[in-house]
Amino acid sequence: MNYQTPRGTYDILPEEINRWHDVEDLLRKKTELYRYKEIRTPYFEDTKVFKRENDSSDMVNKEMYTFAMGSESFTLRPEGTAGVIRSFDQHKMYGSMEMPAKFYYIGAMFRHERPQKGRQRQFTQFGIENIGVKSPEVDAEVIALGYDIVKSLGISSVKVCINTLGDDASREAYRNALKEYFAPYLDDLCGDCHRRYEQNPLRILDCKVDHDKECMKNAPKLFDYLNEESREYFQRVLSSLEALGIPYEIDERLVRGLDYYTHTVFEVVSTRPDSGAQATVFAGGRYDHFVSYYGGPDMSGIGFAIGMERLIALASEEGYQFTQDQGVDAYVIGLGNVSGNVLKTVQDLRKAGFVSEGNLVPRSLKAQFKSADRNNAKYIVIIGEDEIKNGTVNIKNVKEKTQETIDIQALVETISKWEGR
Ligand code: ATP
Ligand code: MG
Repeated sequence: MNYQTPRGTYDILPEEINRWHDVEDLLRKKTELYRYKEIRTPYFEDTKVFKRENDSSDMVNKEMYTFAMGSESFTLRPEGTAGVIRSFDQHKMYGSMEMPAKFYYIGAMFRHERPQKGRQRQFTQFGIENIGVKSPEVDAEVIALGYDIVKSLGISSVKVCINTLGDDASREAYRNALKEYFAPYLDDLCGDCHRRYEQNPLRILDCKVDHDKECMKNAPKLFDYLNEESREYFQRVLSSLEALGIPYEIDERLVRGLDYYTHTVFEVVSTRPDSGAQATVFAGGRYDHFVSYYGGPDMSGIGFAIGMERLIALASEEGYQFTQDQGVDAYVIGLGNVSGNVLKTVQDLRKAGFVSEGNLVPRSLKAQFKSADRNNAKYIVIIGEDEIKNGTVNIKNVKEKTQETIDIQALVETISKWEGR
């Protein structure tokens, strides 16, 4: 029998965990700076939370882990926004919170898609939602936070791609134009595009299968269908980005994978040549009708989600210096039958705040010194039966190459002094 992680999942081993902790620490610092509060919602929800009427996205239609329990249907969350908005509405936070309400989340997401580099079936997202204030400056501020995070990890080879889907009226006009345009080409398009044609023709433009077909290139442009208000809104987002010194590129074909977006949509993509189809580091957009969908008021919001695996991989590739294991301050060696004394000494050191490790089984002196070395010990404390009789310990300062016998009561004090504490 061969026990292994399921396809598309992976273990994060202790040797890699520092990267995660470093990035998580950075995210917590940034969210504090921008005043976002963490929200933790369940890893599964009622299927209806994710499977919304008329949703054409692949994520909802093909990639969800859905299971029945009795007469109920649940789904492992494929994304974070739906749960946050469901919670916002359920707890009527719109009535009690200062607006905009600002949330962040971090945790596992589940999508049944084909695993490849940068694409897993269980992956981790950090995301934010900014709800209740609709303003182009808020859109720019949200993008600025994501950009700030990426830059703080030393990732320079990225670009911000941005587009607008316009307001309802603009979208409706564009939708009709697309339906009319694509009608004669339907036979050329893939099965998913047929579904998109009925549910959300904008998403045809996002199709990875039909992407390079001739009819795609000549499709009507959304920009020509934007009304004055939507145009102005987008202009203000762009000029705010310019004022903040955030370079962007307008990508007219960017529509994003989810159906609920209106106005601003964006993706921050890696420009490294080896990133391939998994180049998007984070992505998001504004949504005008999501809050009311779950029973809340007619409120707009905006958010993005960062793929943590891709973020960490990029930071590593760009040479970000993650924290290295620092080893121990003290390693306590025991000679003879003294494990109890070793344990007591290690605990005293730990209580004083020194990272310590001790040898608690009888082993040769050589093996114990080797362990001290592997633990990168700054100080090696040696306890033998003689020392116990005399109430002393032997302590070796590895860096200074000195060794002395001191009163056991003075151990913590001696190390404190050497450490300048
Ligand atoms: P893609 O176009 O790469 O499939 P998406 O549009 O499905 O991305 P979103 O749903 O917006 O992505 O999720 C935001 C981010 O989460 C992505 O930019 C990516 O970094 C990450 N992400 C999405 N799906 C996966 C996955 N299967 N494995 C790892 N990371 C993922
Ligand atoms: Mg996807």
